[in-house]
Amino acid sequence: MPATIIDGKAVAAAAIERVKAGSEAFRTANGLPPGLAVVLVGEDPASQVYVASKGRMAKECGFHSVQHTLAADTTQDELLALIATLNADPAVHGILVQLPLPGHLDERVTIGALDPAKDVDGLHDISIGRLASGQVDKTLVPCTPKGCMELLETVFPQGLSGLTAVVVGRSNLVGRPVAALLQHANATVTIAHSRTRDLPDLCRSADILVAAIGRPEFIKGDWVKPGATVIDVGINRIPAREKGEGKTRLVGDVEFSTAVDRAASITPVPGGVGPMTIAMLMANTLRAAEQSV
Ligand code: NDP
Repeated sequence: MPATIIDGKAVAAAAIERVKAGSEAFRTANGLPPGLAVVLVGEDPASQVYVASKGRMAKECGFHSVQHTLAADTTQDELLALIATLNADPAVHGILVQLPLPGHLDERVTIGALDPAKDVDGLHDISIGRLASGQVDKTLVPCTPKGCMELLETVFPQGLSGLTAVVVGRSNLVGRPVAALLQHANATVTIAHSRTRDLPDLCRSADILVAAIGRPEFIKGDWVKPGATVIDVGINRIPAREKGEGKTRLVGDVEFSTAVDRAASITPVPGGVGPMTIAMLMANTLRAAEQSV
């Protein structure tokens, strides 16, 4: 029987409704809405699209939403000065610096300058340290990993205790934090990466398989344990000649067409993890606002 498709759009929409209600309650209680500032340096077209959609969603949630667009040749000191201003602004509860930054700017120095209480991307060393040391309730968790966990909650409402999880990918943005969250949820977690041996066999041991690699359809259906849950974080654009010359389509890191026959539940790409990321950014901003009072 083919797998149940985990509907990320629906789960994200429900999360956004909860944020809207929380945002309204926050405004009523505190006389100001939750505030999100997004900082974009340069004119990378993909980043411009992401930043615009974050701003739109923030407004939809009833947030105070500000965008700071800086020239591509902005200096590190100018960027740090803006961050200091936003750190001190009581109307701003969450600050997101859109990555990647232009090459002459240091991402760790920049993220390190954020007030950890406003670090809605969860990328500050203090946020990472709290997550790694199990202080999940005291930190803002990175948005995509948080989204993966919310999707898993829909499949396992009773929790993940005792399940085995394999996370393929160890980036600071996705693989590492998702592994920390799975472990915090009492799954038994293995992190795989490009030096892992016998990856297909390892994947076949997983009740929960999370793919965050960045390689189109890399994980094949017969790597999936029958009855497993597959969370495909990958977003890869590949040529789609069937749609016409020069056309493209999005695929995940898992070969969906074969995995869907082995898994019990699986996220599609698009429409799985993707919509959760922005919803979790809104949830983190509300949380940062609530924790500020
Ligand atoms: P990175 O490139 O930072 O990390 C990729 C990881 O995959 C690395 O740890 C790397 O291992 C591992 N890897 C690469 N090749 C292999 C291989 N052949 N076998 C096993 N492991 C391998 O990517 P990100 O974590 O930032 O992103 C991963 C994917 O998720 C991308 O497709 C990205 O577009 C997508 N993404 C989606 C988001 C969403 O909203 N849905 C948000 C963020 C990312 P090593 O460390 O050894 O090099």
